[in-house]
Parts: sequence; structure tokens; C-alpha cells
Amino acid sequence: MASSILVIGAGIAGLIAAHDLAAAGASVTVLEAAARPGGRAQTRREEGYAINQGPHALYLRGAFRQALDRIGVAYAGEPREIQRKALRSGKLHTLPSGAASLMTTSLFDIADKAGFVSVMAKLNEAGTPPGSFANWADAQRLRPRVRGALSALLRLSSYAHAEGEVPAAEAIAQIRLALGGTLYVNEGWQTLADGLLEKAEAAGAAIRTCAAAKALTRAASGWSVHLAAGETLHAAGVILACPPDAAAALIGAPGRFANLRTCRANTLDLALRRRPEGSHDFVLGIDRPLYASVHSATARLTPPGGVLAHFARYLAPDEAPGPEATEELESLADLTLPGWRDHVVRRQRLIAMPVVYALPTLAVPRPDVDVPGMPGVCLAGDWVGRDAMLSDTAAVSAQNAARSLLNYLG
Ligand SMILES: Cc1cc2nc3c(=O)[nH]c(=O)nc-3n(C[C@H](O)[C@H](O)[C@H](O)COP(=O)(O)OP(=O)(O)OC[C@H]3O[C@@H](n4cnc5c(N)ncnc54)[C@H](O)[C@@H]3O)c2cc1C
Repeated sequence: MASSILVIGAGIAGLIAAHDLAAAGASVTVLEAAARPGGRAQTRREEGYAINQGPHALYLRGAFRQALDRIGVAYAGEPREIQRKALRSGKLHTLPSGAASLMTTSLFDIADKAGFVSVMAKLNEAGTPPGSFANWADAQRLRPRVRGALSALLRLSSYAHAEGEVPAAEAIAQIRLALGGTLYVNEGWQTLADGLLEKAEAAGAAIRTCAAAKALTRAASGWSVHLAAGETLHAAGVILACPPDAAAALIGAPGRFANLRTCRANTLDLALRRRPEGSHDFVLGIDRPLYASVHSATARLTPPGGVLAHFARYLAPDEAPGPEATEELESLADLTLPGWRDHVVRRQRLIAMPVVYALPTLAVPRPDVDVPGMPGVCLAGDWVGRDAMLSDTAAVSAQNAARSLLNYLG
């Protein structure tokens, strides 16, 4: 008889694990606490607008994209060239993205430009330097504006506003990954979650929504999962693809993962009826940890003529959002889409939203997929394992957890 496996959580990690296990012949049930699958990859669809939970870009050379392609999930975007701006000292400058824009930008003076070219070459050549990204960047002895641009590049590629904590090797790999290309997905990331769900179900997995797991206990052969609604389910193996606090509670070790370095952001997501005059498609803060991007400029996310834009304030791991969190993002929107208030159809604010539950840091390693002392129980999510960042970590850990469980169950 096929081994029975319960997957707790139907974010992209849970869905990838469920697909891989079901495709390998296991009998899989996914338990999701929320009313619909997708986790942080969900998209609100209202009045023809597709509103992700904050700005989401698919890294074209990343592990999540590779998993989607392997599993056969279809997605598309509408890539086209956009004008990118840098925000420094309250003024907008051209953000250099090639030789021509570097020549003309007022972001740097001549000496800065030479320094920028040199450090970009070093980023490409760097192997796996020891220490933190801040150590590596400081050692390059950069002029202040170029140093600021490097920090902004790390925030943009990884969301990490923690360059003193993130290892240089991982940070540099992530910047290279981002420079390799990203895609804003037509109709939002729900397309990806729905596609994964469809493939998991086609492989034989079942999904139950509104089914929060409350406790995990040993059973005669395997494990029992107790649902909040009172039901108990039994399985030979379990994958915990839920957030670290929920996983810690389930394995009976509350606080086990409490020291992980969660990376958060404040976001403002705006659906506008039309594009205001004098708008910009993309603004990156150089001396402030800010991001603005009109995702509808390169993805189908709105009815004809509409605009879908995301604004973010990167928060350092221990930083609490200030009382001015919303005003800060609205001011950024004023700069990016002047007069936006006259065109609002929908707005969504996420304050201190967990972007990744665990950054890779020098001091606090992320846990492995196998839970010590609990054979047949694995972890998956963007806080598990040593590989990659963001959704790529979720994808790699999900694949590794499924493989580990299949090996264990023989
Ligand atoms: C603002 C923002 C911007 C981002 N930008 C990017 C980006 O540009 N590129 C990128 O690659 N990634 C990005 N990410 C990260 C990406 O969204 C996440 O890494 C990914 O969605 C995480 O998937 P997951 O399955 O690990 O976790 P989640 O999506 O959090 O899924 C966990 C699931 O477990 C469920 N659950 C919790 N407790 C229980 C329980 N007790 N029982 C059952 N189910 C439970 C939850 O409801 C949830 O559905 C961004 C995230 C945010 C928030």
C-alpha cells in the first residue's frame, strides 16, 4: 500500500512537496489552515485587478522557476524595457542599468561611475568570500554613493536590510541571480500557486482547506496530526510546510525557531483606474530602504488602462514599523505616481509583513529539513535549509523534504 503523508500548509513549499510525493506514488493529503491555498503567494482578485501580497518577482534563474518548469506549471509576463529611477537625498536620478544610462546618470559623478563599473565586475568575479556582505562591501573601499548603491542592490535582490548579518557569498549569489532577470507574473502569483495545486491534484494529492493542524503526536506506526476542529488523522510521514512558530508548536518545542532572523517589509499595493501624468515605472531608494514598482508595466494585472503598483519599505530584522509607516509609503507613491489619490480603485497595506521567515545569516543558521529525533517528520518553507533566498528557499526545501521522506519511507 502507498505510504500516507500529511503536508501541513499549502503555500508554495507545501504544494511543491505534495506534488513531488504524490508523483512518486505516496498517498498525500495537504492540510491548509486558510480558506484557500497559496499562503503568501496568494493574489486578491478584485474589479479585474490582481493584487499580490506585496511586490513579487520570479527570479528567472532561481530554483522556484526551475521547479515550476519541471512540474509543468504555465505562467507568463509581458517583459519590456522600463525606465528605472534611483532616489537619493529626495531627488530622482536615472538608475544605471547599462553603459548608456551609467554615462548619463546624475546619481554618480565621474569617479563614482568608474568605481561602480569596477565593483560590478568584482561582484561577478567574487568567489565565496568569508564574512558578511557588509565586510566584503566595506573592503572594496567604495565612494559613499557607490557603497549606498550596493546596499540598495542587496535589498532589491533579497529584501535583506541586514547586510552585516547576511553572508557575503549568499548575498553576492543573490545579486547575481537578480541581475540574471526577473518576471512579474501575469494575473499574479496565485497563478503559480493554483498551477502547483492543479499538478499536485493531478498526481493524486488531496487538499483540505480550513483545516488547521494543532498538534502532532507519535502513533503506533508513524504520526497523528490533531486538527483544531477536533479530528485526528494518521500518516507514516509528515511535512511541516507552515511558518516556524506553527511548526515549533506542532513538534512540541515552542520557541525552537524563535531566534531565526525574519525579514519583514511594510508594503502599499495600489490599484489605480489610470496612469497619472508624470509617472515613473520604478524607483529604488539608495539612501533609504525604499522600493516602488509599477508591476502592470510588464505584467497583465489590471483591466485596460489600469495601473497596479507596489511600494515597499524594507525593515531590518529587529526593526519595528514606525507610526509613520503608511505616510512613508504614500509619500513614495506621490513621487512615483503623482496624483494617484484621484485614481484609487483598491489599496492594500501590509505592515511588518514577513517576507521570509528566516534570512540566511552568519550567526543563526536555518534548520535542516529533517527534524532531529522525529523520524518521518520534515520541514519545508522559506526558512528551512541552507540554499537560496525567498521563494527559491521554499522550493528547494520542499523538494529536499519530499526526497528525504521518500528515502525514509523506502
Ligand atoms: C511582501 C512580500 C514580497 C515578496 N517578494 C518576493 C519576490 O519578489 N520573490 C520571491 O521569490 N519571493 C518573494 N516573497 C517571498 C515568497 O512569497 C515566500 O517565500 C513564499 O510564498 C513562501 O512560501 P511558503 O510555502 O514557504 O510559506 P507560506 O506561503 O507562508 O505558506 C505557509 C502556509 O501554511 C499555512 N499554515 C500555517 N499554520 C498552519 C497550520 N497550523 N495548519 C495548516 N496550515 C497552516 C498558512 O496558512 C500558509 O498557507 C515575498 C513575500 C512577501 C510577503
